[in-house]
Parts: sequence; structure tokens; C-alpha cells
Amino acid sequence: MPHSTRSAPAAKASAPVPKSATQKALEKLGLKRDIDLALHLPLRYEDETRITKLRDAREGDTVQIEGRVTECDVSFRPRRQLVVTVDDGTETCTLRFFSFYPSQQKALAVGNRIRARGEVKGGFLGRTMLHPSFHSAGGDLPTALTPIYPTVAGLGQTVLRKEVLAGLARAELSDTFAPGDLSQINHQALWTLREALSFLHHPTPDVSIDALQDHSHPAWQRLKAEELLAQQLSQLMSRRARASLRAPVLAMVSPEVFAPANEPEAPVLLPLYTELVATLPFKLTAAQQRVCAEIARDLERPVPMHRLLQGDVGSGKTVVAALAAAICIDAGWQCALMAPTEILAEQHFRKMLGWLEPLGVTTAWLTGTQKARERRAMLELIESGEAALVVGTHAVIQEKVQFKNLALAVIDEQHRFGVAQRLALRNKLTHDGMEPHMLMMTATPIPRTLAMSYYADLDVSTIDQLPPGRTPIVTKVVNESRRDEVIARIHDQIAQGRQVYWVCPLIEESEALDLTNATQTHAELQAALQGPADGQAVQVGLLHSRMAAQEKQAVMAAFKEGRMAVLVSTTVIEVGVDVPNASLMVIEHAERFGLSQLHQLRGRVGRGAAASACVLLYSTGDAPRLSEAARARLRAMAETNDGFEIARRDLDIRGPGEFLGARQSGDAMLRFADLDRDTELLQWARKEAPMLLDQHPALAAKHVTRWLGGKSEFLKA
Ligand code: ADP
Ligand code: MG
Repeated sequence: MPHSTRSAPAAKASAPVPKSATQKALEKLGLKRDIDLALHLPLRYEDETRITKLRDAREGDTVQIEGRVTECDVSFRPRRQLVVTVDDGTETCTLRFFSFYPSQQKALAVGNRIRARGEVKGGFLGRTMLHPSFHSAGGDLPTALTPIYPTVAGLGQTVLRKEVLAGLARAELSDTFAPGDLSQINHQALWTLREALSFLHHPTPDVSIDALQDHSHPAWQRLKAEELLAQQLSQLMSRRARASLRAPVLAMVSPEVFAPANEPEAPVLLPLYTELVATLPFKLTAAQQRVCAEIARDLERPVPMHRLLQGDVGSGKTVVAALAAAICIDAGWQCALMAPTEILAEQHFRKMLGWLEPLGVTTAWLTGTQKARERRAMLELIESGEAALVVGTHAVIQEKVQFKNLALAVIDEQHRFGVAQRLALRNKLTHDGMEPHMLMMTATPIPRTLAMSYYADLDVSTIDQLPPGRTPIVTKVVNESRRDEVIARIHDQIAQGRQVYWVCPLIEESEALDLTNATQTHAELQAALQGPADGQAVQVGLLHSRMAAQEKQAVMAAFKEGRMAVLVSTTVIEVGVDVPNASLMVIEHAERFGLSQLHQLRGRVGRGAAASACVLLYSTGDAPRLSEAARARLRAMAETNDGFEIARRDLDIRGPGEFLGARQSGDAMLRFADLDRDTELLQWARKEAPMLLDQHPALAAKHVTRWLGGKSEFLKA
């Protein structure tokens, strides 16, 4: 068999990487400045300060052994591998390498004394280590634990360690706050930044690896405090910077202004806001009224509003957006409403038309897929200012779109937009030194600790109440084997004149497979639902991501108008779609969906007065049971309808890192602190930040630059 030439994994004794490649790899890690290198802290540590006798090593221990090579062979069964036996005088251990360089083979020649480090496996055939790191024996044992740094392909630990230590030696590390400032939290946490960093890069062997690994060591406390302080400072700075920006004053007009005093006979013209409230087919809930008042107060101030409006699915955020738009339009300015998907944008457009057109407002519509002529016409309406309201997808922030005088931007389902897009929106809309007011809406409530740290720059309004007359959705978790019963239930609902959603999962690996799956389900349901009691054919529609925008719209329209009883769809209906007559939702392979996604989907039913249900069909596939996490998600869905509770459980299941999703792309994540565990440090940072900024602005600026460098911009998005 010819020797394979495919590359071997980077070994300890790998050839030095050329300078430029190292530089590139360092940049990939975001390590540009000395301080970045100094703050690049170990992921974990290896203890190479000790040699363990094989006799004393237990199965599963990661240890360093030293001994003589007694055998070194290339074996071909079951696959090509280098098999090396080491004898340390107490016992022997087999080292296996599935890929190796000839130079490594030489270093492991029979008779050589080596040190090898890896996890010991017991095994029927004696002790083994798989791909241990090794080098020749001799020389002093290191006196410190060996740090292992996060790295990228092509940058080995040895080179990286050298760069990091060099950066640490050069970096300016004078303290921005005194060690004693932390004493209220932990009296042992009295470390300076320099001491803490030096220690974490070369910890003395007497320290407990556990305290280092779980970040509870006082040196870590200092760093976590530093990191949280940087985050709080940067948000505080951006909040203050915003306070110095100007925005159009959108004051609510009082009714008297519209009643011409000298013409008592003239019809009384009411402000748009008041008229809209009066013509709505429902009464605003107390929660809606409260958040409207909060928004109105922001809009009449000459500084840009940055407000997050959170409210569970179905809580009625859209009408709040319309009312905010009404205030803006009445003041003589334009408003933009942006949604993440075309279906959602179109639905908003129709709603806005329905509410505002009778009151004389011209609304423009922008999407990436519209015809050039229509688009040009829309652009003109926007540029001339004739369109007071613009509704659309990302198309709203494209180059060509020129507003006459935009004063308010509303972003629906803001978590669907990345940080970069939100920044683009703000930058685009800023002109003449004026920024627009921003209202961001989300159905994914942000847990308190996250709100305190990541969204500290935002003001938050919460709709904590659903419109009256909704019956809670009953959620059932049902095994795939009971599909027939579910179909019978669909029959039932249709017979009562209700409509049904059937959601097929998105199959990540393959859009084609995805489509097949949805198409098959569609055919199956169509066949199963024919011959209904009243003799009429049941209309089953299909909606998937590959369809042209127009087709999608036609299907949605048919469903919305009730001409279609069942809608089979991939997750394109996930956000915002509003068909109050739909009373049953079936989610197939519910175990594959994320928790907040399931909750969003379920929110498509239960929008009217009829009792609604959600059936979560699951399948364990070849496995005997669902994974722990999948079960936790389905259980949460069955147990609660409350979006806040769902978000809390989601955070438990996934952890804050994943919870934030798109936000991660802004690299704004905390690297060291853990919001759940480090609440005391977070509280400290929240108190410390304004004090530092007020009393020592230069130190505050230095602190933020040190920690965030060029990344602080992202924190403001
Ligand atoms: P979401 O907050 O999920 O975006 P929507 O704005 O789509 O919710 O509202 C859900 C449904 O509730 C819509 O049909 C909307 O017209 C209706 N709605 C909103 N506010 C009220 C209210 N105060 N009373 C009754 N129905 C309302
Ligand atoms: Mg909505």
C-alpha cells in the first residue's frame, strides 16, 4: 500500500510556520495589538509539571508518562496506524497514531526515552493513549502549568504561546481601577490587571487546575470584572453619545390644533393617531396604551429613540407600530417599517393600507423581487415625500432608496436582522446630523440579565398582556406513529369551518430534500382529506421557500381569505403571519425545531376567539428515545404558553451564547464572564461604569479601547 500523503494533524514538534502565515492566523483570531495578545487567555491548562507512573494512572486520567520505547511498528489493521509501546518500569502503554510524519516515527524509534501526554484508556488489550502529544525525555519539567490557547488551523500552540507572551511583555497594563474596588465582592480578588494576566498565562503549579478552569480563581475575577466593566462602559458611552445626537421632534398634535377656531362650522379634523384609535375594530389593551405612551414620550424629545418593544406572539405589536407611524406622519415626517421576510412585509403592508389609507395616508411598498417599473414608481413616491409610510423588506435600506425626510424606523422581528444590517440601517438613515428614531419589535423577550448587559443601551417597553377573548392554545406532544389520529382531527376542524397549518421541518443539509418532504406531506394530506362530510373537496395549499414571491403571495392570499383549508408549509410562516380563523397547527418533526421557533410557530394559531390547538409530532428516528434537550423543549412547549417563560427555559437549555444568535456575529459576546454565574460582578460593573466615566473619563476611554478596540461599534447596534 502506498504511503498516504495527506496531511497529518499538527504535532507538537511541527515545523515553524512562516511569519506571514502566523500573522494571518493571529489576525483571524482578532489578535492585532499587544493588548489583544495579552488578553488572549488560555482555554485550559495541561499539567506537564509531573510525571505519573502508569501503575498509578486510572482509566480516563490525562497524564504525562515517561518511559522507553520498546516497540514501534506501522500496522495496517484495521487501518494504517503507528503503534508504539512505552515501558515506564511499572507498566506498559500502547500509543496509537492514525496519521504521522516520518520524523515522528523516527522520534519514536525503539530504545528512545520519551515523555507522552494524553488520556489513558484501560481496554482489554492493556493501556492505550490515542494521539498523545510527546517529545523526547530529558530536560527539566516545566514549573508552571502549560496553557492551551484557543487557536485556528495552521497556528500551533508553541508559536501562539510565544506570540502571546511577547505581547504580554510589551503591552501597557496599568490599572484603570484599583484592585480594592472589587473588595466588596470578593476580598481575595485584590489583583491588579498585570498580576492577573501574568498569572493566567503562567500559573504556578500549586494552584488548583479546577479554580483556573471554572474561572473562579481571583485572577479570573479581575478579568471578568474588567470585561463586564468594558461592556457597561461602552453601552453607557453610546447611550450618552446618543443623547447628544439630534432627532426630529415628533410631538403628538393635540386635537385643538386641528379644529379651526374661526370656523366653528368646519368639520373637526382629528389627529391621525386619534382617528386611527377611533377607527380600529378593537379597543387597545391597557398594555398597548402604556407602551404607546412610552413611545410617544420618546418621540417628542429631540434625541433619537432606541426602544425595544417586546411582546409575546399575538400581543398586538403591529398596531403599536401603526400608531407610532401615525404620530410621525402627523408631525410631517416619513416613517419606514421593515420586516425580515417578504410574506411578513406584505402582510404589514396590507394591514397598514387597511388602517391608514382611509385616513388619507399614502403607503409605499418595497421588496427585492418587485418589477423594475413598480419599484421606480415606489422610489419616486418615497423621494418626493408623497409616501408618508414605507413598508418593505431589506430593500428599504438599499442604496437607491432616498427618503425625503425619514424620522422613524420600525424594525419588526429585530432578532432576525444581523448586527451589521442594523448598523447599515442607522448609518443610511442618518443625515444632516439628525438620526431617525428607532423602534425595534421582538416576540423573543430578552431575559433580564441579558437585557442588563447586552441591551443596556436600549430602552425596553413590554406588552405583557394578550388582547381579550383569546382562549389559550392547548399543546399536545404526539408520537409520529399516531399521525392518523392527527389527520382525523384536521378533518374535524375543517368540518367546523376552521383552518389548519401543517409545518414541515427545514432540512438543513438539503433544500431539495426539504421540498420533497413538504411536497409529499402535501400529497398525503390532499389524499387523506378528500371525500369530506359535506361533499366538497378540501383545498390543501403548499408554501415553501423555493417558490417565486408571487406564487407565495397567491397561496397566502387564498389561505387568508379562507379559500384554502389547510396550508402545508416549511417554516416560511414562522414570523408574524396573521390568519385568525386558523385554529390548529401541526408541527412535524417538532424535535428538530428550536424552542423559540416552536413558540413563534404556535403563535400563528389562537389569534381568534375559537379554542386552538398545537400538535407537536415527534419522531425518534432510529434512536430509542429523543435527546435530553429535545425532550426539554417539547416539555416546555406543552407546559407553558408564556413567551417569557419559554425564553427563560430556552436560555437554560442553550445558554446565553447561543441564545443571542445573530448578535454573536458582532463579536460582542463576553469571552470570560458568565452572566448567570457572575451576577455580582455584573452588578458591580453597572455601578462602577457611570462613576468611572464621570470621575475619570480618560481612564474610562482607555479601558474601553483596551478591551474592545474597534469592536465597540458593534455594541451600539
Ligand atoms: P404580534 O404582536 O405577534 O405581531 P399582531 O400585531 O399580529 O401580533 O396582532 C395579533 C392579532 O391581534 C391581529 O389580528 C391584531 O389585529 C389583533 N389585535 C391587536 N391588538 C388587539 C386588541 N387590542 N384587541 C383585539 N385584537 C387585537
Ligand atoms: Mg408581529
